[in-house]
Amino acid sequence: MERKNAWLVRGAAEKAAVTALCEDYKTYLSASKTERESLANAVALAREAGYISLKEAQEKGSLACGGKVYETLMGKILALFRIGRKPMTEGMNILGAHIDSPRLDLKQNPLYEDKDMVLLDTHYYGGIKKYQWVTIPLALHGVAVKKDGTVVNIVIGEDPADPVVGITDLLVHLSAKQMDKKASVVIEGEDLNILIGSEKVYEEEGEEENRKSSVVKNIKDILLEKYGIEEEDFLSAEIEAVPAGPARDFGLDRSMILGYGHDDRICAYTSLRAMLETEDTEKTAVCLLVDKEEIGSVGATGMHSRFFENVTAEIMALTGEYSELALRRALANARMLSSDVSAAFDPNYPSVNEPKNTAYFGRGLVFNKYTGSRGKGGSNDASAEYVAVVRRIMDDAGVCWQTSELGRVDEGGGGTIAYIAGNYGMEVVDAGIAVLSMHSPCEIASKIDIYEAVKGYKAFLENA
Ligand code: MN
Ligand code: MN
Repeated sequence: MERKNAWLVRGAAEKAAVTALCEDYKTYLSASKTERESLANAVALAREAGYISLKEAQEKGSLACGGKVYETLMGKILALFRIGRKPMTEGMNILGAHIDSPRLDLKQNPLYEDKDMVLLDTHYYGGIKKYQWVTIPLALHGVAVKKDGTVVNIVIGEDPADPVVGITDLLVHLSAKQMDKKASVVIEGEDLNILIGSEKVYEEEGEEENRKSSVVKNIKDILLEKYGIEEEDFLSAEIEAVPAGPARDFGLDRSMILGYGHDDRICAYTSLRAMLETEDTEKTAVCLLVDKEEIGSVGATGMHSRFFENVTAEIMALTGEYSELALRRALANARMLSSDVSAAFDPNYPSVNEPKNTAYFGRGLVFNKYTGSRGKGGSNDASAEYVAVVRRIMDDAGVCWQTSELGRVDEGGGGTIAYIAGNYGMEVVDAGIAVLSMHSPCEIASKIDIYEAVKGYKAFLENA
């Protein structure tokens, strides 16, 4: 039952194609450090491929077979549709993935000065090992929205000429007590404070001995001069501290990619890529990139939102198929690959996996019939019939693929967006790409697995 290694299957003939795809992915990942950036870059690629916005499609008045449309909400959730030959009531083939990643969000009142240093207070987002986020260069990405609605885009720390920021750790010489603590509290959430300044300036004109001075004044001046934002604008901002720097080739053989946010932009990008490269399908093809997966898929831009249902209704209105019943049928008859990263086997930590049911680097696209924890809790658990359909599609298309569970029974676990799509009655199975060091600032993925994923997703859109 051991699965084939895709490097051996592809051989030299396809090496150039693997490299080219992964160069494109690295470019996307390096420029997509937040859900907003991931979405904006995805929309740009979609428009290049001829997709138009829902509003533009509505102005044209109708949609026919081959029509390519996208819709977004709040800049954080995206659905793309390519209309197939069959009516949508016969079902859609959906590729889903999420574009939010674990990070440190600035608090609403983040700025403070302490002993001639200025820091930003954060509230972490998603599941992180907090000790991994200290002593690494961080960049600040996001938006600050002024009271008049002006959106100020912020990216500090990515251009090699930019400064970076970061969180300090205690020197080892004075860490006797810290080193005895449990890893979960060795760095505490409230202590994830980002150092951003230390130059002291006078706050006012006048006689030297009476003049007030501070470090925070200088930082406030820089924020105002460079970005036009005042301290109060942090109240209506979404600024994320993320690992600084681009994604890079990893390994002496360049067979892997190291980067921040593979979870789940690696599945988002490969799903999008397959969507944009797939033409002329029987069923309507859909690519759905969602936000908030890392905190429970909640809110208007998470998978629990009515967004996808609403957009499907709008699309069906344009194809002339819409009725409440037709919408229900289109959703219930859909088939979906809910793609999220899998835990790759790690030779440093073999004990957490059960080797027969573990994802391995190089063995291609991963399918998880179920995820969950403590007895499959929270899992979608795809039907055997549907898994058989997916097996056939992958094998017919010559895709390298494997199956996996998230660790040994009762070792831990986790969930995805799959069960939420399943609520419509559609067939859903978890799929995705294996990564090492998941949720760390430096996740690692295999290039050949990225290649197999695009192949698999295209085969699904064409044949499911
Ligand atoms: Mn994920
Ligand atoms: Mn995750």
